[in-house]
Amino acid sequence: MTRILIVEDEVHLAQGLLFNLEAEGYQAQVVETGEAALELLLAKDPPFELVVLDVMLPGIDGFRVITELRQAGQYVPTLMLTARGHPDDVLRGFSAGADDYLTKPFELAILIARMRSLLRRSEWMTQPQNQVKEQPIDRYAFGEKTVDFGRLELRVRDEAFPLTLMEANLLRYLIEHEGKPVSRRAMLEDVWGLHEDTDTRAIDNFIVRLRRYIGDDPRNPRHVLTVRGVGYRFIADPK
Ligand code: CA
Repeated sequence: MTRILIVEDEVHLAQGLLFNLEAEGYQAQVVETGEAALELLLAKDPPFELVVLDVMLPGIDGFRVITELRQAGQYVPTLMLTARGHPDDVLRGFSAGADDYLTKPFELAILIARMRSLLRRSEWMTQPQNQVKEQPIDRYAFGEKTVDFGRLELRVRDEAFPLTLMEANLLRYLIEHEGKPVSRRAMLEDVWGLHEDTDTRAIDNFIVRLRRYIGDDPRNPRHVLTVRGVGYRFIADPK
């Protein structure tokens, strides 16, 4: 049975989610604070396949929770619940390592659809035989680096960096447009599905991280180049 951790301090919402997720056949548990969530998720072999994480919590907030999880190497798929009208929260959540988000208030059916999609993705990752036929690009090598989109992993020589779903999606998008400039707006719309009036500079945080993983010097990058006034351009094989 798929086990879900709900991190939500609004009792009515939390109980409603618990009831409905159990009715859908999931096994769900509610905690009301970020501290409690970290304690459960940073334990050895945490028994959850997915986390629904509210941003606004008493004590440490959802951003801090996701940041600490990812820093500790805990990559459990996480869907963040953000307040409507704060599109920058969405990017902050993704920057911290969230896999998806939903703005409150939301339709239960939409939440379940998003959860299913994250779960499908992570189940599929653990079945290597499925990777090649289902993905347009499964692995991609450039320089001395290999991106494994199935495993959400970037390998640089002997070192492996885990990627969040969104980091992998952004890298895939840049690679698919190899050699061509892609605008920040296009990345927000095509990778994140954001059509709101979001500050497009927030995309730069992702680029900073991708460059760090692939060893690109930000002052003189070789693979992920800045296109002034537009966005970025990926070059697989610099000259
Ligand atoms: Ca809350």
